[in-house]
Amino acid sequence: MSDVRNVIIIGSGPAGYTAAIYAARADLHPLVFEGSVTAGGALMNTTDVENFPGFPDGILGPDLMDHLRKQAERFGAELVADDVVEVDLARTPKVVKTATDTYLASTVIVATGSGYRELGLPNEKRLSGHGVSWCATCDGFFFRDQDIVVVGGGDTAMEEATFLSRFARSVTVVHRRGELRASKIMQDRAFANEKIRFVWDSQVIDVLGESRVTGVRLRNLKTGDESELPVTGLFIAIGHDPRTELFRGQLDLDEEGYVVVDAPSTRTNLDGVFAAGDVVDHTYRQAITAAGTGCSASLDAERWLADHA
Ligand code: FAD
Repeated sequence: MSDVRNVIIIGSGPAGYTAAIYAARADLHPLVFEGSVTAGGALMNTTDVENFPGFPDGILGPDLMDHLRKQAERFGAELVADDVVEVDLARTPKVVKTATDTYLASTVIVATGSGYRELGLPNEKRLSGHGVSWCATCDGFFFRDQDIVVVGGGDTAMEEATFLSRFARSVTVVHRRGELRASKIMQDRAFANEKIRFVWDSQVIDVLGESRVTGVRLRNLKTGDESELPVTGLFIAIGHDPRTELFRGQLDLDEEGYVVVDAPSTRTNLDGVFAAGDVVDHTYRQAITAAGTGCSASLDAERWLADHA
């Protein structure tokens, strides 16, 4: 058991590190739990980031996160590459536990982001990394001149399909509905791409292959007809789930599991607990918006501490 910290930040994406930079510069000596495997957050899985202001030539996702991390450290943030496995946020002080240690804090900032959604098929997990992927930018290169399926109908699916068309021989987008949810510009880009074709009103119901993906089984949701499509890659782009299991029963979550905050502040239902980034946001989901709310969360925590000094 340690002393009571001013602020503990859970999460190491743009939201967590930005909160850490602000809290450190306010002399609050924040303690940041970065996670044991995924320190740096979602941008560690991407290549070029061209829309984060301040980088006119773009920047690689891992480089951007490395900059944020170093900036937080420079001002005295304490970074711990470990997972938070249990919290008691209703108590004063708040309790945050890793597998080996217990920490206390006056305020907590939740910035745990969100994870890829799965199809829930038995063979999906088994063939993950053997043709099944959730990240075109990470794995697209391995599918040069191959035939690929992308599942989904939103912006992410169109972005993945368009990106994959750089490498693949063909990209088939399988979508449950007869029209896309993606923004018009993303749709137009995909429709204009001669390598991309669409299978409408259909669902992937099985992933085929022993040691590697050799195809997918499709069902047309209107006719019930089933068919097989021979492909060597399946990219799943059907959305994300906020990482909020840890907080269930303590923080108010909406019907999709995102943390509810008293917007435009980052206050949660629990006094002294703030939340920022993709764990809150199902609308914008960008690095800059996550960083922006991370800043807000730190300022909110700072004011809370001043009010309770
Ligand atoms: P995340 O980045 O998801 O970080 C949260 C992190 O918290 C986790 O990774 C983990 O390290 C940590 N964590 C979670 N649970 C725990 C726990 N229990 N204990 C300790 N640590 C924990 N956005 C853009 O603006 N431009 C882009 O070009 C862009 N490209 C993208 C490409 C891909 C492939 C993906 C997946 C996303 C992309 N995004 C992009 C979106 C952007 O990455 C996210 O909006 C942003 O990273 C969200 O930041 P965050 O801090 O909320 O969460």
